Amino acid sequence: GRSAEAGWWEAIDTAAHAQEMLADRLLAERAADLRDVGRRVLSVLCHIELPEPPAHPYILVTEDIGPSDVARLDTAKVKGLLTERGGATAHSAILARALGIPAVVGAGRAVMALDNESTLILDGERGRIIPSPSEERLTRARQTLRALEEREANAWSRRFERAATRDGHPVEVAANLGNTLHAADAVERGAEGVGLLRTEFLFMAHSSAPNLATQTNEYRQALEALAGRPLVARTLDVGGDKPLPYWPVPQEDNPFLGLRGIRLALTEPGVLETQLRALLLAGAPREDGLACPLRIMLPMVKDVAEFRTVKAIFDRLMVEIPADERATDVQLGVMIEIPSSALLAPSLAAEVDFFSIGTNDLTQYTLAIDRGHPVLSAQADGLHPAVLRLIQMTVEAAHAQGKWVGVCGELASDAVAIPVLVGLGVDELSVSARQVPLVKARLREFDLNDARESARRALAQSTSDAVRDALEAN
Ligand code: PEP
Ligand code: MG
Repeated sequence: GRSAEAGWWEAIDTAAHAQEMLADRLLAERAADLRDVGRRVLSVLCHIELPEPPAHPYILVTEDIGPSDVARLDTAKVKGLLTERGGATAHSAILARALGIPAVVGAGRAVMALDNESTLILDGERGRIIPSPSEERLTRARQTLRALEEREANAWSRRFERAATRDGHPVEVAANLGNTLHAADAVERGAEGVGLLRTEFLFMAHSSAPNLATQTNEYRQALEALAGRPLVARTLDVGGDKPLPYWPVPQEDNPFLGLRGIRLALTEPGVLETQLRALLLAGAPREDGLACPLRIMLPMVKDVAEFRTVKAIFDRLMVEIPADERATDVQLGVMIEIPSSALLAPSLAAEVDFFSIGTNDLTQYTLAIDRGHPVLSAQADGLHPAVLRLIQMTVEAAHAQGKWVGVCGELASDAVAIPVLVGLGVDELSVSARQVPLVKARLREFDLNDARESARRALAQSTSDAVRDALEAN
C-alpha cells in the first residue's frame, strides 16, 4: 500500500543498515555507497535532478567522509572540505591536511542545510565557516589568503635551512608519510627525515599482506630517497579507524580501546616479524656507502612488557641476518600515545632507544574523547594541560636516560603549540610534508627561553581554552 519511492527507500535503508552492522569496518563504511545509489534511483523516481559536482573549483560539504574517500578527492577541484561529523585528528582530516585541502570537520547538522552554489568562506586554521559572507568579509578573506601565500612563499625559500629556533637551538623537522613514494617529495619540501611512516597504508594498498620482498622494496625506496636522512617507520597500526580488509577484527563496542596497534600485531607475530625483517634488510648500507639511519617504532604500547616481546624478535633478527645485509644504524623505540606509557616513561626510557609522542591518540585517551567524535572532538585539544604534563613527564624521563623524543601527532604543526613543545624539550617535530617549511619558519620566530616561558605558562593553566588564551595573549 505504499508508493514505489517509499518502498524503494525502505529497502535501501534496511540493506544499508544491515551493512553498517558488519564487523568489518571497511565493508560497514561502504553502506554509504549503497545509500548513494539509493538516492540516485530515488531521484529518478521522484523526477528530481541531483546536483553533479560542478566543473569549477568548489567546497565539498558532506555528512562524513572516510580516509579512502579523501584519498580519491580531485584536489584540482575540491578546494575545501566541510563535514557535519568527524574530528580534526581523525585519519580523514589528517589525509585532507596531507593533500593540502583546507577542512572544517564535525561542524554539526546545520551545515547540511547550506545551499548548493552559495558562497562560503572556510577557514581550516581556525575551524570556522562564514556562509554567504558580505563583500567586506570576502575582501578580508582574500587578503588573509594573500598573506598566507606570502608567508608560505617566504617559508618555501628557506626550506632547506636547518631547523632551529631564532637563537640556534636545533629541533629536527621531519615529515609524516603514508606512502614511501612520497619520500622524495618530503625531502624536496625541506624535511630532515621521515618522522612517521604509517606503514599500515602500505598494507592497505594491497589486497593481501605484502610479502617480504615487496615490503623490503617499498622501505628501500623511502631510504634511497632520503639519502642518508633518518626514516622512522612505525610497525603496522591497524584497528580503530584504520581497518584492514584482510585482517578482520571481531566486532568491538569500543574499537579504539580494543585490538589495535601493537596488541593486534602481537596476535600474528609472524606478520610483525616479516615487517621487522623487511625494514632491517631495507636499511642495509647503500652501495655508495651512505648509511641508512633506520628507526623502528611500535604503536599503542601501554607498558614495557609489549616492548620486550617485540624487542626479543628484533634481537633475534639482528643475530640471524648477517651484519652486512641489514641496517647497522638502527634504533627501536615506542610511541607514547597511551597515558600509562607516559606515566611509566622512566621504566620504558631505560630500555627503548627513543620516544615519539602520538598526540592524536594521547589526547583521545587522556581526555576520554573519541578522536572522530562528531560533537566532542572539538574539545580534544592536544594543548590541554593534562596532555602537556604527560609530554613533560615523557621528555624528562627520556632525557634523564639520554634518549631523544619526537612528536608526530597533529599538534606538532600547530603554530601555537610549537613553542610549548620546544619549551618542554621535544627534540623532533614530525608533521605533514606540506607543513615542513611553515614549521621551520615558525621555529625561527622565537628563542629557546621564550619557548620555555610558553611551556611554563601553559602548564600552569587548568583547561585547554585557558592555555590557548594565555599563549595568544602573549
Ligand atoms: C597519533 O596518534 O598521534 C599518531 C601520530 O598516530 P595515528 O594518528 O596514526 O594514530
Ligand atoms: Mg596513534
